Amino acid sequence: MSQQLSIDIITIPAKEGRSFTLQQDQYIKIIDIAGQQVSDFVAYNAHNHKERLDPTVTMDVLRSININLHDKIYSNLYTPMFTLIEDKVGKHDFLNSSCRPEMYAFLYQKPDHASCYHNLNNALSQHGISPPDQHHAFNIFMNTVVDEKGLIQVKAPLSKAGDYITLKAEMDVIVAISACPCEESDCNGYLCTPIQVEIH
Ligand SMILES: [Zn+2]
Repeated sequence: MSQQLSIDIITIPAKEGRSFTLQQDQYIKIIDIAGQQVSDFVAYNAHNHKERLDPTVTMDVLRSININLHDKIYSNLYTPMFTLIEDKVGKHDFLNSSCRPEMYAFLYQKPDHASCYHNLNNALSQHGISPPDQHHAFNIFMNTVVDEKGLIQVKAPLSKAGDYITLKAEMDVIVAISACPCEESDCNGYLCTPIQVEIH
């Protein structure tokens, strides 16, 4: 392994998914190129695919549904996987599971719709990771609002064109990201656009 300072730049086309490997202490920057585009982000321990990013464990440790600068994102085994290093938006989501064909059938009568579930599965298959029964992602830029009565609303993301977050890997990981293909709601501002990823 060479120790070189370089940046890999990858564009995830609208409605598609990609996967990446990160070594411990590498940085991944996720950029909302056009604004208001949710990115479903999942991760697995590169050396143990039974350990994966877990939003519910993260909310348990943080005692919050929100993540702040310098907070860590945890695995199902309560081990830090990432640290939030930069955040131009300040509003993301741990509550919602990834969109899947059954959701599009249920809400929009569109069972053949593209989905984050399949985007992530396809991207992860390159690393020998078999599809889980559902993906529970860190939904970057997703603007889920919970009011005092517990009512949940998915509003348009607060991210503007060029906004980004940066995560530092706390272990060797396999990451998959889906540029969410839902254009039927405010989730992506009714328009699906690409996401850029930089790995440092
Ligand atoms: Zn989605």
